[in-house]
Amino acid sequence: MNDFRVAGHATVDLLADYLGGLAEQPVWQPMDPAARERLLGLPLPRQGRGLAQLVSEIGSEVLPYPMGNGHPRFFGWVNAAPAPAGVLATLAAAAMNPSSAGGDHADVHLERTVVRWIAELAGFPHPPGAGLLTSGASMATIVALGTARDRAARRLGVDVREQGLAALPPLVGYVSAETHSCVRKAAELLGLGSRQLKAVATDAAGHLDPVALRERIAADRAAGLVPFLVVASAGTVNTGAVDDLDAIADVCAEERLWLHVDGAYGAFGVLDPVVAHRYAGLDRADSLALDPHKWLGVPVDCGCVLVRDPAELRAAFSLVPSYLRDDNAGGLGWFSEYGIEQTRPFRSLKVWATIAASGREGIARDVAHCTAMARRLGELVVAEPELELMAAVESSITAFRYAPAGVAAELLERVNQALPVAVQERGRTFVTGTVLAGREAVRACLINPAVTEPDLAVLVDEVRATGAKLLASLG
Ligand SMILES: *Cc1c(COP(=O)(O)O)cnc(C)c1O
Repeated sequence: MNDFRVAGHATVDLLADYLGGLAEQPVWQPMDPAARERLLGLPLPRQGRGLAQLVSEIGSEVLPYPMGNGHPRFFGWVNAAPAPAGVLATLAAAAMNPSSAGGDHADVHLERTVVRWIAELAGFPHPPGAGLLTSGASMATIVALGTARDRAARRLGVDVREQGLAALPPLVGYVSAETHSCVRKAAELLGLGSRQLKAVATDAAGHLDPVALRERIAADRAAGLVPFLVVASAGTVNTGAVDDLDAIADVCAEERLWLHVDGAYGAFGVLDPVVAHRYAGLDRADSLALDPHKWLGVPVDCGCVLVRDPAELRAAFSLVPSYLRDDNAGGLGWFSEYGIEQTRPFRSLKVWATIAASGREGIARDVAHCTAMARRLGELVVAEPELELMAAVESSITAFRYAPAGVAAELLERVNQALPVAVQERGRTFVTGTVLAGREAVRACLINPAVTEPDLAVLVDEVRATGAKLLASLG
């Protein structure tokens, strides 16, 4: 173990230098072609080499080419900077290397606790067994929608696990144009058919319209379809819009539909008293998908699915082979009875470390800082005549575009479409693009608590300068 100790110390030094130096580096740069070719062409080593050599290769061949999301001026997609406590815990978790499928070892009990903590942070009720950690929100959504499908079938007198979908009438679910693609993927995978997911109208700001929802359900019932599911957003990827969860929960309660809330990006926004009111009704969902690997900064991978009724979750997934039958969890059984994975990674240690390092107060402070910075960015955009704010800032995403007066709409579209990558290549900041109400836009997602006002000023400068250049070259 002495090799491990020495190389381990060297690794920690390397990573402390890496993390500590990120802010001085370009946010992201296209990879040096020779370095890319080296990685792509690595031959299978014939002989092994020592740990010290491996650490040095990580330092020279890998760490210099990051995605950029550790940098305080990275505002792309929804990718967090890793919490240092979570980074360290990842190493310890790998050293223990259990399968958190079930049994009586620390990782399993710790997972029950951190799932309870996550529920408490999000303000979601949590009876024992009502959730588990997943690879991400995509997997959390598959688990949630699978449970919803199971319940809907049971109400129709069908055991969908045994009889399959052929025994069911067409089930329909309701989403909006802003619903994340992972919902459609889950519906496709579960055999529900993406055509059976109906897009309900939204208001101008992208919120699912509860009145239109109610009308759509009535029309579908009249047409002989069987509504079973509504998916609402607690923070959309495009603009951070939070649906009117209370009103949608009312509809679901009256119509006896499963309410799934996608809180992958935004659910933890509820910790900021300034925006918490937008999340009213979150606690009424039948299931909630969250991503601790986003706003909490838990190193990837870590999603979480929470459900209202643990018995429904277990009924949808439990299959207990005889060799796994012993139960050390007070009747709750194994995590592998509550989801898809059998051998499961020790995700809970990095969650425990990340949350414990900040405490509830620290996390709430970080979340509030991010929403305040997003609103501040919105103000800077509004104050800048060449920029146009594309949506009200509801959580911590600010959507805008480069739009100086007197430029043809078609040219502005081309400029804004090219803008994110052009900004990224300059290396001073990183934003990604989207299309809002048919128009190209730039969106900045603020989930790194290290972001400062000067960072926002750099972002505004970069978008203006890059926009002007593109206007000149594309015009
Ligand atoms: C990231 C995200 C997802 C998908 O989650 P993964 O962790 O990438 O699988 C779903 N919905 C929203 C709103 C997201 O931000």
